[in-house]
Order: sequence, then C-alpha cells, then structure tokens
Amino acid sequence: MTAFREALLGPSYWYHRRLIEQSKSWSSEQIREYQEERVGRLIRRYGSEITRKEDYRQHLRHYSRWDAPLLTHTVRTGGTSGQPLRFTADTLARRQKERAYLFDIWSQIGYAPHDLRVAYRGDVHEGLVQYNRLENLWIISPSATMEGDLDALRGWVCTVPPFFLHVHASSLYTFIDLLGEDLFRRLPIRGIIAGSEAFPIAEQARFERDFGIQIAHWYGHSEYAVLAYNCRECHGFHFYPTYGYVEFLPSETEDCQRIIASSFNRMGTQFVRYDTGDLATAATTTCPANQFRRVDAIVGRAQETFTDSEGRRRSLFGYIFGDEKSILWDHIQDLQVIQDRPGALRVRLVTDPASNRAQIEQTLQSRMPMATLEFEYVPVIERSASGKRRYFVDAMAGGEH
Ligand SMILES: [Zn+2]
Repeated sequence: MTAFREALLGPSYWYHRRLIEQSKSWSSEQIREYQEERVGRLIRRYGSEITRKEDYRQHLRHYSRWDAPLLTHTVRTGGTSGQPLRFTADTLARRQKERAYLFDIWSQIGYAPHDLRVAYRGDVHEGLVQYNRLENLWIISPSATMEGDLDALRGWVCTVPPFFLHVHASSLYTFIDLLGEDLFRRLPIRGIIAGSEAFPIAEQARFERDFGIQIAHWYGHSEYAVLAYNCRECHGFHFYPTYGYVEFLPSETEDCQRIIASSFNRMGTQFVRYDTGDLATAATTTCPANQFRRVDAIVGRAQETFTDSEGRRRSLFGYIFGDEKSILWDHIQDLQVIQDRPGALRVRLVTDPASNRAQIEQTLQSRMPMATLEFEYVPVIERSASGKRRYFVDAMAGGEH
C-alpha cells in the first residue's frame, strides 16, 4: 500500500487497527478491564436500565454527545427491523473505525486494503455497473439485471481482473443464477465478502466446498454498537472487545439469548445496554483463537426469495432493503411484502401522512422492474403470534414460514 493510501485510511483507522491486533492476545481479565472502564462511564451517565429503540426515538438528545454540525451527522437504520431509527454518529471517526474492523474480518480470506471488489448488493444506480475509484469497487445495479441485460453482465464480468465478490448472503445464489454456474466457476474470484444477514454455517461450508472459494462473514447492526466476526476455526462469532460491549440476556425464544449492546463512541448517539432485537445461541465450545466473547450462531432473518416475472428466484433483501441510504426510508415507517402469484408482489406500507406516495411507488418499482408491484397503505403491520414482524410472506408456499 502506498503512503498516500495509508494516509487516506485516517488516524482512527490506524488507532483501531493497533487495538484489534493487541486485543487478540489479551487475557479475559485484560478485556474485562478495558471494557469495564468504558461501560462504567456509560452507566454513570445514563443508568443501567435496558434500553430499546423507542428510548432513543423519544430522548435522542439525552443519549447524544457533541452534537454539532460537521462533528456529527444523522444516520438511519434500514427498514428490516421495523420503523427506522434516526441517530447521530461521529462524522470523521466512525467510517475509519468501521473500516479497521471490517478489513480485519475480510483479511481472513486474504483481502488487503484497496484490493479490487465487485459488489452485487442493493445499490441502485443508472446503468449496469459503476466504478468507485476511492474504494476500488465495481458496483452492479440489481435493478439493471433484467433478462435482456444478462448477456451484457456476463460479457462485462469476464473482463474484470481477480476480485473479491461483495454480496448480501441471500444474494449470492441469485448472482450465480444470473451469470450461470459454469461462468461463475470460471471467474477469478478471490473470496466472498458476505455481511448484513445471517448466513447459516452449513450453507457457508457447502458453498466453500462446492466452489472452492472462502467466505468472510460477520454480524453487525445499523446502530454500530457491537460487531462480531465469524471465526474460521470454531465457526462461531467472536465479538471485538474494543469495538463495543456485548451482553447476552435470556429471551422468550427457546435456546436463544438477546444481544444487548453498549457502544464505545465518544461523539454522536451512545447506545447503552441497548436491546438490538437480535438473538444468538450461546457458545457450547471453546476457541483457541482469542478470549473475545463468543456465541455459536446469530439467529437472523431467513433467506427470503421471491419469484420474478421470468420465474427466477431473487433475494428480496437486496432489492427492498439493500440500499439503507435511500431516501425511501425517510418516508416509510413500516413495510411488508407478500407474494401470492409469480411475478407480482403486494407491498403493504405504513407511511407518514405527508409522504409522497407516487414517489415511493415509483422508487420501489424502479428498483424491481422484474416484478409487478401492487401497493396497499395500512395503518399498521400486524405482528405474528410470537410478536415478530415478518417483512416477507410467501403466500404461494402456503403462507406461514
Ligand atoms: Zn473461534
């Protein structure tokens, strides 16, 4: 890496890069010391009650530090976990810190900063592909992958030098299907970077065996309070102790624990004993890699796919939720997608009274030209018996799943 590129990563990147390396050889006692000091500060400031999204929605200023233009900016969670939450984050340091940890995770499959990536996620833009020089990243727009575009996509992808493929876990097989498996196998893919969603261990192992390509996978969430990497040795998840503080509390779901997160950021919204809404299964084995807190698995969303107008299965997540930065989420409070016949989706929406419905419908339809969308506006999306909100209902498969 050139000195210029090293400098571009920023001081917070290098600060955390060093912390990550050191923390891997810390004893449990050293980890406890590091974390207690920081969590203690949060609890003295905000109390030790478990907090939820609603607390931050109602008392955002109370939980936010150093809120000033330039120092912090507003961030928003995406739509999969219910009504989006707005909070503030450190403008300069957050991205640098985030990168230090993500690059550490990706390095397990050989990635080094500035290596070439090709992303097939939710980023929708004009045309089929776009290049981001700063990131050394090609971005494929999922909405430009209609049947008529696929030959162009196949032709283009063959011209790309060795790269890491960056996908949502559920989009990986859609991507293979779009290209055709034979072509996919011939591509010089150095590794798969797959975050954002649960990726069952058995499926990961099957993919790595079938295709001979390694996968880097992790657990993070939109509030940036805790982060865990999926370990190649024990196949569980290790939580970085210098990123944030994680606790596991009992849940109503059998064999599952709630993931409670406290964030270590100095500026912006500070999450304290925050119930992420995510569940994990407790670690049943030990791992020699380091003394980080671990769980066996993260229990997340299933890999939901819909059938498009050509009969092709596609990952819903990438199309609807993949682009969390979309202004769409400023207008939508809640959403549910129902498929009751092939090629068509019924989108049920809860919106602000002032929202521009025509614009929402146009935006969603432009993201998914391969399905006919029907819109229905409802006051609330009903929860299932277990209190869970389901964002996709495949009514063709007999409904509940
Ligand atoms: Zn491990």
